Amino acid sequence: MTSKVDVKNETTSILERLGVPATRWNDGDLPVHSPVDGGRIADVATTSAQEAATVVDAARTAFDAWRRVPAPRRGELVRLLGEELRAAKADLGRLVSIEAGKIPSEGAGEVQEMIDICDFAVGLSRQLYGLTIATERPGHRMMETWHPLGVVGVITAFNFPVAVWSWNTALAIVCGNPVIWKPSEKTPLTALACEAIFRRAVERFADAPENLLQVVVGERALGEAIVDNPAVALVSATGSTRMGREVGPRLAARFARSILELGGNNGGIVCPSADLDMTLRAVAFGAMGTAGQRCTTLRRLFVHESIYDTLVARLKKAYESVSIGNPLETSALVGPLIDRGAFEAMGEALDAARAEGGTVTGGERDEAAGDSAAYYVRPAVVEMPSQCGPVLEETFAPILYVMKYSDFDAAIRDHNAVAAGLSSSIFTRDMQEAELFLSAEGSDCGIANVNIGTSGAEIGGAFGGEKETGGGRESGSDAWKAYMRRATNTVNFSTELPLAQGVSFDI
Ligand code: NAD
Repeated sequence: MTSKVDVKNETTSILERLGVPATRWNDGDLPVHSPVDGGRIADVATTSAQEAATVVDAARTAFDAWRRVPAPRRGELVRLLGEELRAAKADLGRLVSIEAGKIPSEGAGEVQEMIDICDFAVGLSRQLYGLTIATERPGHRMMETWHPLGVVGVITAFNFPVAVWSWNTALAIVCGNPVIWKPSEKTPLTALACEAIFRRAVERFADAPENLLQVVVGERALGEAIVDNPAVALVSATGSTRMGREVGPRLAARFARSILELGGNNGGIVCPSADLDMTLRAVAFGAMGTAGQRCTTLRRLFVHESIYDTLVARLKKAYESVSIGNPLETSALVGPLIDRGAFEAMGEALDAARAEGGTVTGGERDEAAGDSAAYYVRPAVVEMPSQCGPVLEETFAPILYVMKYSDFDAAIRDHNAVAAGLSSSIFTRDMQEAELFLSAEGSDCGIANVNIGTSGAEIGGAFGGEKETGGGRESGSDAWKAYMRRATNTVNFSTELPLAQGVSFDI
């Protein structure tokens, strides 16, 4: 089926409406393709690794000015950004669908998440509290102060092309830091759109220095130049575990801070008492939503033997009937994979599962759903005799491996027996099972849910995962602390100089 929407024309109209200068996307050296129809929609100008040094210098100058602006005033800029995002929501959401292939409600949902984090950060700008701590010395006071950290580098993945930037940027800005953003080379247009939206907020704000946000487009080498620059105080890097393995040690070698948000291999346990209607809906969204291209996508499901046949039969039916199609023209629930590489990786994982004794339902390419240069697939549900082979790895595609369990403790052990540790769920109405899953003996992930799927986190909680997911936390709760430096201050308002721990040193 050929796309009826002229994707390139629509992209051009959106970029023009949002005020993205044509010099950034018209005639550059990086071709950009839409996964919706595989067509080329823009040619973006890239920044070389050598030019990155100039960008970092400019950010460093911006930091010197921005850190002196009071935090609540910095919050005002983020409030304006939230207003501009509200005004641009329809266009930016549509651009997310064009560039990342998300269905309309997910494209709009991603922008809503940006608005939500702006609201959160505005409130936070008046709450960057330090503690006052009891001191053992008379006539003294001890407290903590939180100061801006420095230049923040943000490296993002294709699958959340704008929300992850906003989680980092809304917090970094209220915390007093400029941001350099290197988006995925697969989704640079949405980043340029965000830069234009940010600029509008800056134009309405008197105290913002130049270069508070700089978007640089390029591939891995550009990311490495940001990671290696000693003037970048923190790098928040979202992407594959492979990327984190390269970035993490480089940052550690120069004692820079990192927030690593890496791959997930998320699991769920369905217990005998589970509400199966609700479980089915949660599993369907978690495993098939965004065509399986969320870091939090549900990839492994452990189902109790007493309900296994019933649930798996219903799941297969849902997989066989779910609508797949062009997100710009249809109301399908599953859009395209990002590119041919993703399609091939899915095929390889399914072959490997078959070789391990798995029974595959679905997984074939849906040629009717899109143009020949686009990759639409029917999501696959794979019954596995045990957790082995491809089940232990993240394949960034809609594959759900289902396994039968009989012993709850063994199910938790299997659940935790993978390298990643991002998100997890249990479906049960048994309070003991639910609490055990959330306890220290339960799920070892950064996110553990009860009767909710693994994906679709709210911005109010800290987001991130353990083990090979990298350990970073972003977004809500106290994630802001990673974007600031803490100083412990002790003030002596007495006329004596008592030393801590009773040490005497009389001269
Ligand atoms: P990717 O690792 O290929 O690329 C991510 C980003 O890192 C891109 O901007 C890329 O240019 C950059 N990059 C790659 N190698 C680099 C290096 N050596 N130095 C500096 N930068 C480098 O990931 P992707 O295919 O775009 O995204 C999918 C992956 O991201 C999945 O594994 C998914 O689970 C993960 N992800 C994780 C989260 C999370 O919050 N944990 C969120 C979204 C995506």
